[in-house]
Amino acid sequence: MSVLPASAENIEKFADMISSGEAVAFPTETVYGLGVDAGNDEAVAKIFELKGRPQFNPLIVHVRDLAQAERLGVFSPLARSLAKAHWPDALTLVVPRSSDNPSHNEVSLLASAGLPSLALRVPAHPVAQELLAAVQCPLAAPSANKSGHLSPTQAAHVAKDFPNLPTLDGGVCSKGLESTIIGCLEDEPVLLRRGSLDAAALEETLGHKLSYLAEDDSQTAQLAPGRLARHYAPQAGLRLNAETVEQDEALLAFGKDAPSCENLCLNLSPLGNLIEAAANLFSHLHELDTTATRIAVMPIPNEGLGAAINDRLERAAAASK
Ligand code: AMP
Ligand code: MG
Repeated sequence: MSVLPASAENIEKFADMISSGEAVAFPTETVYGLGVDAGNDEAVAKIFELKGRPQFNPLIVHVRDLAQAERLGVFSPLARSLAKAHWPDALTLVVPRSSDNPSHNEVSLLASAGLPSLALRVPAHPVAQELLAAVQCPLAAPSANKSGHLSPTQAAHVAKDFPNLPTLDGGVCSKGLESTIIGCLEDEPVLLRRGSLDAAALEETLGHKLSYLAEDDSQTAQLAPGRLARHYAPQAGLRLNAETVEQDEALLAFGKDAPSCENLCLNLSPLGNLIEAAANLFSHLHELDTTATRIAVMPIPNEGLGAAINDRLERAAAASK
C-alpha cells in the first residue's frame, strides 16, 4: 500500500526516504506535490522522468519559513514584506538565487532549470510543514501527476498516476488550485501566474496594483531579457550532435566514446545514463560556459529524459546563435 496516513511515524519515514534520494508525494493546501531533496541533482532529475515531462521547466522549492528561504534567495524589501504578510500560504516568490554556498548546495541547478533565480514557497498544510521540519532540506516539488494530466487534490488522485509512489495522505487539498506566483527579481514585484491566493490581497500588502507579466509573454521577455529569463541560455555558442571537436571548442560529452578534445571536456554521463546526464546538464553547461566561447555537444539519445535534454540544448543553441 503506497498511500499512508500522515502519522508522526510515517512523516519520519518519509523524511528518511527523501534524505536517501527517493521521491515521495505529500499534501499541500494547493495540490499534492511530488517532492525530492532539492539539493540532490539525481533526485531532481527523477522528478522529470517520473512525470514524463518533455521539458525541464523550473520547479517550486518548498521551505519551512522565511528564515530558510533567505538562506537560498535574496529578498528585496517588498519581497520580504509579501513573505512576512502571507507565508505560509499559496504564494510563490521568484527571487534571485543567493550567490552564497547554501543556495548551490541546497538547491540543484536543475531545480531552477539553470536559471539564476529560485521560486520559493512556504506551504501552510500542517503535513507539509511537519515533513519540511523533519527532513530539514528544501523540497523541490511540482504537482504529483504525469505531465498533461490534472493536478491531484487528494491522495487517491496521486495513486492513479503513480500507484507505487509513497504518498502521505493529508486529505483533500483545501485550495485545490496552484499557488500564485510573484516575480521579485527587480524592485517592483510582478504577477507571473494567477493562483489560489487572490492578487488583491497581495496588492493590499504592497499598497498598489501589481502589473501582470504573462508567463508566455515572449514579447515582454524579449524587451526585458534578464527581467523575465524564462530559459537559461549560455553565452558560449553550442554546436549540437558533434562527432569531433574543433580546436577552439570545449566538449560536452555523453557516454564512453567521447572524441579527443584539447580543451575542457565534461561528460554528462560516462556510462550513458540519462538520469545522471539530466542531473549534470546545467552544472556542466555553466562550468563550460565560464571557460569556453564554443562548446561542441555530442549527440544525446532522444528517448526518456534525453528528449528533455535535447529540448533544452536546442533552445540554448538557438539563443546563442
Ligand atoms: P508548478 O508547475 O506549480 O510547480 O510551478 C512551476 C512554475 O513556477 C514554472 O512553470 C514557472 O512558471 C515558475 N517558476 C519556477 N521557478 C522559477 C524561476 N526560477 N524563475 C521564474 N519562474 C519560475
Ligand atoms: Mg502541475
